[in-house]
Amino acid sequence: TEKGTLKEVKATCCYCGVGCGVIVQSDGKQVVGVRGDPDHPANFGRLCTKGSTLHLTARPALQQQARALYPELRTTRNSLRKQVSWDETMDFIARKFVGTIREHGPDSVGFYISGQLLTEDYYVFNKLAKGLIGTNNVDTNSRLCMSSAVAGYKQTLGTDAPPACYEDFEHAQVIFIVGANPAYAHPVLYRRIEEARRKNPSMKIIAADPRRTDTAREADLFLPILPGTDVALFNGMLHICMQEALIDPAYIDAHTEGFAELKNTLADYVPKVVAEICGISEEDLFRAARWFGESKASLSLYCQGLNQSSSGTAKNAALVNLHLATHQIGRPGAGPFSLTGQPNAMGGREVGGMANIISAHRELANPGHRAEVARLWGVDEVPAKPGKTAVEMFEAVNRGEIKILWIACTNPAQSMPEQKLVREALKKAELVIVQEAYKTTATVDYADVLLPATTWSEKEGTVTNSERRITRFKPVLSKPGEAMHDWEIVIDFARRYERLSGREKSIFPYKTPEEIWNEHRESTRGRDLDITGLSYKILEEQGPQQWPFPEGASSGRKRLYEDGAFPTPSGRARFVSTVFKPVAEPVDIRYPFHMLTGRLRDQWHGMSRTGTVAQLFSHAAEPAVVLSQEDMEKSLIKQGELVHVTSRRGTQIFTAMAGDDMRAGQAFIGMHWGEEYVSGRGYKGEGTYGVNALTCPAIDPSSRQPELKHAAVRILKA
Ligand code: SF4
Repeated sequence: TEKGTLKEVKATCCYCGVGCGVIVQSDGKQVVGVRGDPDHPANFGRLCTKGSTLHLTARPALQQQARALYPELRTTRNSLRKQVSWDETMDFIARKFVGTIREHGPDSVGFYISGQLLTEDYYVFNKLAKGLIGTNNVDTNSRLCMSSAVAGYKQTLGTDAPPACYEDFEHAQVIFIVGANPAYAHPVLYRRIEEARRKNPSMKIIAADPRRTDTAREADLFLPILPGTDVALFNGMLHICMQEALIDPAYIDAHTEGFAELKNTLADYVPKVVAEICGISEEDLFRAARWFGESKASLSLYCQGLNQSSSGTAKNAALVNLHLATHQIGRPGAGPFSLTGQPNAMGGREVGGMANIISAHRELANPGHRAEVARLWGVDEVPAKPGKTAVEMFEAVNRGEIKILWIACTNPAQSMPEQKLVREALKKAELVIVQEAYKTTATVDYADVLLPATTWSEKEGTVTNSERRITRFKPVLSKPGEAMHDWEIVIDFARRYERLSGREKSIFPYKTPEEIWNEHRESTRGRDLDITGLSYKILEEQGPQQWPFPEGASSGRKRLYEDGAFPTPSGRARFVSTVFKPVAEPVDIRYPFHMLTGRLRDQWHGMSRTGTVAQLFSHAAEPAVVLSQEDMEKSLIKQGELVHVTSRRGTQIFTAMAGDDMRAGQAFIGMHWGEEYVSGRGYKGEGTYGVNALTCPAIDPSSRQPELKHAAVRILKA
């Protein structure tokens, strides 16, 4: 719309998975303002500090300083990258791919992409790797974020679909927030919870978290569980619900399977033992179980505290068990609702953009599913061998198995655990391609090829938020410099690769993102996420819509499983006999502190965007290691003093702060700052990579998600 001389376009915020609608104002040359979209069902006009400063991240001066605007290439490792034409760059890459694959096979290349990409970008990357090149080595930073939630849903409910919606906050009687701090990480949703609570004063909030976060402070009941003990907590709560007849035997009989086996497992989780494992009082454990089980509608909200764990899948499944047994699912205000970290992790999952899944929630391990996707794509086959997941991909690069690594829209040289290995891998790779909007990320330093990409306010396409809601948006600004859209870059490469490898008819015929989206839409026909009733036109005219939205439907579905039918072979939900396992790296005499990591209120990920806005540093100017007052005194550390934090993988320097949110023996570090900060404090040398120099690369056996939330460390005065 035109407002005075300003143009206004509807978009979404590019940060978290809440997926808030924003109205972007531009004068045609630059973005001059943003405001919340009052019509968007995710936020109804609200924005948090990050979303409301988005326009400041698109200032022209900043674009000149921080943006990647031209393709750059170096043909030998010892030279500097030089600006070259797109044609020369893409030709070089295509020839390298063809040569390397001819010599070493398709699994000698890998793609590491991002939950920040749009669904259309994700779709073509996935098709390029699995359809054209013939490797499943395509994984994403969503592996660090949501893959345990995916595995948990699939094991229990049969498919990767969050069953609840934001409106359920208004129907819930109990909200159980566990392993999440929405007051910081999903602020607009938290405002909505606060409002629902004001309207319904009998609503109770239970928070379980090792730290007394801002979310926990506002809860009616706070369970300060010890790190990694969530499975014991959920099993203990279910044990009590069984004892006190708070489960629903009729629902269990009619709609589930596997309860007898789970019952045997739960017998071990007697309240006294569970309270000890979790480090909470038995009284509080009983109170939590009773509130949850007795309530007319209990809704759980959870995020990385469950997911970023070496038993992340079990944590997710144990929580779903609790919901199924008490029939707290498939009803207004009830359900296990995983909050998504990134803006389009959901879209990536929908197109199958990970190493172990394929389009539209199909299973790579299922030959019938592979054949369906191959048919849709017009290729002979989709390879059966699973690809390397995030941590495994960098390990394979380090071993020399993957020789070419293409990284898009993410910054693994800051965000992956065990940075030393990741950076060694980036040095060892024969070719590192980085497709990025910002030339300032740590990963760009390792790029042999830099492909400049468009970003927020410049792109067109769709994203899906935590409640399965798809939003379509259009660009506000034109492409800066020579930057290209992510999907255009992939297609340009794919066509060159096709020509060089002798394929006559291109399987990448798209001219617009809409054509890509239409193919994706067709891939969902008959699947749980069927969106064959949607179109770009409907999304534009009727606004954001939830899936499923099959052909003939007039609206999407708010919540799933209301009929008690689940997308499993038997139609029943499955209980999983989850067993508590401690954190991968227990504390000991040499590493006596539990290091916990997490988001701060005003920063996003590695700060390539939020780090350009001065006012976003007013909440936390620099990263600190937060300790209990007791530990500060015991270690003779004064407020603001510098300390060395050391794990088995490296050392970093931080300012020490006392926090009343911390238990003795625990230390919290915000995840956002990378090597620039650490080097800036004058601490140089091996391991100066930011917090992920310290984090643990142990992965969950099912989801392959690393335990970024916890590591054992020691802390000494610098
Ligand atoms: Fe953006 Fe998330 Fe804040 Fe909404 S809550 S404005 S999506 S960062």
